Amino acid sequence: MKIGYAFKDCNVIYGDAIKGTDTHMTILIQENGLIQEIGKASAVTVPTHYQTIDCSGKYVMPGLINAHVHLFADGKPFTLSASEGLLNFAFHHILDTRLGRNVLKKRMKKNALIALHSGVTTMRSVGEFFYTDVLLRDEIKANQFIGPNLLVSGYFLSVTDGHGAPYLALVGDSPWEGRRNVRINVKNGVDLIKICVTGGVTDAKRVGEAGRLQMTEEEVAAICEEAHKIGMRVAAHAESTEGVRVALKGGVDTIEHGAEMDEEMIRLYKNNPRALKGYTAVIPTLQAAYPSAKLDPSLTKLNTTVKENARLVYGSMLKGLQQAIEHDIKIGVGTDAAMSYVTHYDLWRELDHFMRQTKLNASQVIELVTKSNAEILGIDHQTGTIEVGKYADLIMMEQNPLENIKALSNVAMVMVRGNLIQTPSVNRIQAVDELLDTVWSI
Ligand SMILES: [Zn+2]
Repeated sequence: MKIGYAFKDCNVIYGDAIKGTDTHMTILIQENGLIQEIGKASAVTVPTHYQTIDCSGKYVMPGLINAHVHLFADGKPFTLSASEGLLNFAFHHILDTRLGRNVLKKRMKKNALIALHSGVTTMRSVGEFFYTDVLLRDEIKANQFIGPNLLVSGYFLSVTDGHGAPYLALVGDSPWEGRRNVRINVKNGVDLIKICVTGGVTDAKRVGEAGRLQMTEEEVAAICEEAHKIGMRVAAHAESTEGVRVALKGGVDTIEHGAEMDEEMIRLYKNNPRALKGYTAVIPTLQAAYPSAKLDPSLTKLNTTVKENARLVYGSMLKGLQQAIEHDIKIGVGTDAAMSYVTHYDLWRELDHFMRQTKLNASQVIELVTKSNAEILGIDHQTGTIEVGKYADLIMMEQNPLENIKALSNVAMVMVRGNLIQTPSVNRIQAVDELLDTVWSI
């Protein structure tokens, strides 16, 4: 049975840069997991049967939202080489059994819980195997265990020999095959559609080839129309300027990763008649490219083609982010957790990265990772800010993240839909942490 809570006498960061921060506040949380009242501690009456949590001197803000993750891996580096195809084959054939799928689901659950304990109360998973993401989401919804809010995409939609094909993708080579693949994913219970408009760093054979265009505008448009018909959003993996252009013209709702843009693209981001809400947002994932681009190949074991492509993609992605800020394009935050060096507990690093490489301050990046992300994902009526009537998705910290964003790496308490995790614990991957801590000093 759920109980009500009072976070008493806290500093509240609302997740809305305009609203800012209030001190000495009390937040009441109803038994149903919704925020009931927010007011000055001296003015709020705490019902006697509520559990009171003394928050004096501490900071409470909305739970973090990671808009781009994969749950199938944990961020330990995997080296891509000639054996990649073999590994993929083994992975597929071992996991494509009842036992294998259970192992996979357990691993995904573990990663979702690591994220939750680090303060991520909502995750959008954009590419998984066998609809295990759908199963996991349903278990959480049915309260079989306390997990983060999950939005899931199931398989990628890709073209023959495209990004993620064949094991991680449903393959289609025409607008109608694209529509069919949307229907298959919808039938299997996904929340959104993820498409691969271009290739990626990992599948480029030559320098300069990462982000090679793979889908046509007609294919993208048909997929978007089919998804939008039932109010579903489309997220597009696009790692080159031409790829982003085709995705925008086709009407996608989010550009994942992104690239440098021109005037036509800037206009389309801000006013995209084919997108579900009339605009397209960009979700860069700087953390996914930066370590591969920056770290010494003797550490990463990456070949020079991959490193050089990572460097090119990172540069273009960063330029895209800077242009998006300059032109007031809607920006979300995701990490591509599961990729090498991108763990599920490290969302603060992406925010730190934004602050180092752009003019954004802590208050602005916090708004991006909470309120803005919720809007982009279409869940802002439920979460993303501290407001009466929304889910109590909250995190508490001893330190002020507005003064030092790294405070987010040490969350003292997490609440998701009114479920309290009083002593969160995160199993960190020490070797990865240590390596990443050195990146900025290189
Ligand atoms: Zn991804």
